Amino acid sequence: MTPEEQKMQFLFALRSQGVRDKRVLEAMEQVDRGQFVQGTFAGRAYEDTPLPIECGQTISQPLIVALMTEALDVGPRDKVLEIGTGSGYQAAILARLARRVYTMDRHRSLVKTARGRFETLGLTNITTSAADGSFGWPEQAPFDRIILTAAAEDPPGPLLAQLKDGGVMVVPVGQSDAVQTLLRVEKTPNGLDYREIRDVRFVPLLEGLV
Ligand code: SAH
Repeated sequence: MTPEEQKMQFLFALRSQGVRDKRVLEAMEQVDRGQFVQGTFAGRAYEDTPLPIECGQTISQPLIVALMTEALDVGPRDKVLEIGTGSGYQAAILARLARRVYTMDRHRSLVKTARGRFETLGLTNITTSAADGSFGWPEQAPFDRIILTAAAEDPPGPLLAQLKDGGVMVVPVGQSDAVQTLLRVEKTPNGLDYREIRDVRFVPLLEGLV
């Protein structure tokens, strides 16, 4: 395989697994996942699989990134909040689709590394914060879209409060670490509308800054 063919590996998988949104597919083509995986697993960056990153965390499986991004339904004028920066990969995809992305992680060192990557890639519409994302980012609220890439027991109240009317939140919820349900929550004039997308497996949303 040439390096270019290698980079295409998971992009084929996305299409065959039913990802249809052209903007999402384009964004995933534009962001090189190899820039977000370092060390032992770098050689596997283009496989459709989650991989370990620093601080005992994981970069999500590309298919799951695509499905979550599709469900989030991001428009070019949207202000998006992501909880769980991790490697920065999901934020970089969102930055291609939205006006502005705010991303938070409780691991200071992950935020620092991700910020460096955004600078290198010229992604100037991402703002980072090292903080416990369960409380959201009140100074920047409200948001058109909110995505959590760590699993919560329920959609956190402060985050729902920071979602605009008509806004959408995508969040893995569940009591167990083994399997959770990916939920799409929409704030409608009649209240919150919940839709289950599929089973997923994420690291848990934890308290406090480390
Ligand atoms: N979106 C990432 C993958 C995230 S892994 C990517 O594209 O690579 C989940 C991340 O959520 C971890 O980095 C973990 O530190 C973070 N996290 C867990 N609980 C959190 C909290 N309360 N606030 C902010 N980040 C949290």
